[in-house]
Amino acid sequence: MPPIPGSGLAKGLAVTLRTMTKKTVTEQYPDVQPDLPPRTRGVIGLFEENCTVCMLCARECPDWCIYIDSHKETVPPAAPGGRERSRNVLDRFAIDFSLCMYCGICIEVCPFDALFWSPEFEYAETDIRELTHERDKLREWMWTVPAPPALDPAAEEPKELAAARKAAEKLAAAQEAPADPEGDA
Ligand code: SF4
Ligand code: SF4
Repeated sequence: MPPIPGSGLAKGLAVTLRTMTKKTVTEQYPDVQPDLPPRTRGVIGLFEENCTVCMLCARECPDWCIYIDSHKETVPPAAPGGRERSRNVLDRFAIDFSLCMYCGICIEVCPFDALFWSPEFEYAETDIRELTHERDKLREWMWTVPAPPALDPAAEEPKELAAARKAAEKLAAAQEAPADPEGDA
């Protein structure tokens, strides 16, 4: 049976009318910022003070896109007669985000909590070489890392916090203790 003239137009108009009344799902980025979950994998921040240059992250990265250079330094003994020790000093830490596949393995394997996810994602570049973020840039991303979720109130106190609290209490008690009367002039 031949189609009724104008039926296609009527169908098209019906679709238009139907969708006109529905809530739009298109996000007007960049005029409107997307509402991202706090743990979004946007970019990786480096907390340099925690990095011991153990190289685990670079070794485990499936894309080999973490570049680390370091040198060794000799540290004098902690006590007289002790042995000198050597420690690694970071010279370069960079991540090439043009290769990174955002798997998060580097963050998972870091034994010293030196790498963190930030939800920032607006770092597109017109030159691919700019996507290699050196340590200063990786450090700057740390400002955009969200605070960790609050601990479960019923959870056991982390041993680091317990030790710090005990040390602070001991110090406060020592300061509050009355002075030795024999020590008075
Ligand atoms: S997220 Fe994955 S691919 Fe990206 S730097 Fe880390 S380990 Fe490599
Ligand atoms: S795994 Fe962590 S501590 Fe080791 S080199 Fe990588 S960032 Fe530094």
